[in-house]
Amino acid sequence: MRKKTVKIFLLIVATALTVFVMWQFGVFSGTGQPKVCLDAGHGGSDVGAEYGGRYEKDDNLKLTLAVGEILKDNGIKVIYTRKDDEFVELEERAAYANKRRATFFVSIHRNSADANVSGVEIWIENTAPLFEEKMAQNILDKINEVGYGSSRGVKRGYQGSTSSNYLVNSATDMPSCLVEMGFITTQKDNELFDENFEEYAEAIAEGIIESVK
Ligand SMILES: [Zn+2]
Repeated sequence: MRKKTVKIFLLIVATALTVFVMWQFGVFSGTGQPKVCLDAGHGGSDVGAEYGGRYEKDDNLKLTLAVGEILKDNGIKVIYTRKDDEFVELEERAAYANKRRATFFVSIHRNSADANVSGVEIWIENTAPLFEEKMAQNILDKINEVGYGSSRGVKRGYQGSTSSNYLVNSATDMPSCLVEMGFITTQKDNELFDENFEEYAEAIAEGIIESVK
């Protein structure tokens, strides 16, 4: 009788350990409904890039919320690192997505440059596996279907350095990418952003849906 109790106890411990190890390796994270974490770049005192009184943080938030609505309409669970004009640390954004076990993290920004350059580019971690590159490419393909100047491609690492990364890409546990939705410092790109706003929101959402379904 005593021996049997020990056996049952060991069985329970072994089962619990197995489940814990499986959880640690993310065996359960890919199951169930996809959960997308949308990250509107900058916010609050951090306005991001600026052009003629136009702040990147505002464009980012507006587009992020529009994408989120479309995703929700399509049955995708959406969480946000910010939904208002507030400052959130980069580490906090990544930690939030990790804690909530998001399945895909998409950061939305607008680009800036000294020269009059144009177009969309998407950044992924320099060590991202190919399937993660494909997820970013899905979004870019959909944006290109609408058209946004010249496509600048899916890029690895950080602007000017392939050996470093955007923190939201390197500190997130799940596949992630950072969308630079045209140059806020280029008038033509701002016009495109405003004129095709709904189409771009649709395009980004469609690309995300294709990646998480
Ligand atoms: Zn930015």
